[in-house]
Amino acid sequence: MKKRICILYTGGTIGMMPSEHGFAPMPGCFAKLLASISDLNSAEMPQWELIEMDPLLDSSNITVQEWCSIGQAIYDRYHEFDGFVVLHGTDTMAYTASALSFMLENLNKPVVFTGSQIPLCQVRSDGRDNLVTSLLIAADGRVNEVSLYFGGQLLRGNRAMKSSADGLQAFSSPNYPPLATAGVDIRYNQAAIGTPRVSGPLQLALLEKIPIGVLKVFPGIQFELFDSILTEKLKGIVLETFGAGNIPDYNHALLPLIQKAFAHGTILTVCSQCPQGAVHIGTYATSSGLKAAGAVSGLDMTTEAAVAKLYYLFSKGYDKETIKYWMEQDLRGELTVV
Ligand code: ASP
Repeated sequence: MKKRICILYTGGTIGMMPSEHGFAPMPGCFAKLLASISDLNSAEMPQWELIEMDPLLDSSNITVQEWCSIGQAIYDRYHEFDGFVVLHGTDTMAYTASALSFMLENLNKPVVFTGSQIPLCQVRSDGRDNLVTSLLIAADGRVNEVSLYFGGQLLRGNRAMKSSADGLQAFSSPNYPPLATAGVDIRYNQAAIGTPRVSGPLQLALLEKIPIGVLKVFPGIQFELFDSILTEKLKGIVLETFGAGNIPDYNHALLPLIQKAFAHGTILTVCSQCPQGAVHIGTYATSSGLKAAGAVSGLDMTTEAAVAKLYYLFSKGYDKETIKYWMEQDLRGELTVV
């Protein structure tokens, strides 16, 4: 029996058409684009059904609300299909894939995110292979987690980052090996594929619009300017530090701010500006105060995963000690516990 895969089209370049203001998604047009790809109906392909989300968005405009709609669309059809392919703009695909990895609790079917850098309506589009291969991966059923296929590589969704604005291999996963590579054959990396931690039926954890901020340190940063931002109004902050978690400590301005924010319930997670490697708070004197001030180590998590995880844990309604604890634990393969 042929597998049944649900294609969720959320917007993004893959289905965009030229408009007066540049490429934009056009409601109702995507089914016609798919009809022009005859391979999608060849004997080796699974059966598929297209669901077009409303509104279709450039992924720069995707918010927590759309993460919830995508999660709900999967949840509502979970028993009807063997897997899901989510077509999404590349700009924020890694954030959405990270968020969905946390929201879909007890997931035990493939959810593959993909898209393209060149629209399907153009001759050199990379969307055709990205879609066809994602459908085959979803139908294969070996990778029962949220993943992201792009340019020949299947990556864990919450480990992926967009690393090229114009390359056709636009995503990378510097801290985790690909789950599969697609050359002449699709080769699965069984050792890297997660074993789903399933303890019951699929649950959908809806996210709330939690106030979260990302702050990137740079040489000469004047932390005192952030005093009015780092208040109890901001529930979670991802601090992108230098190297293994280092911050400038020339005027001792940041630590008191972190201490104050933590006392008010704000969780500050330390990630690195380096795509590869992990944060080790305390290795250098310039990071040793962070822990004492209440900061959490993001270890080798991407900023995308850290942001999504903060949304998830705050939306669960946990208290700050519980959130601090879970931020440093591996929930969906998003970090490596040392
Ligand atoms: N701006 C587009 C988007 O993220 C880019 C893309 O899809 O490649 O929706």
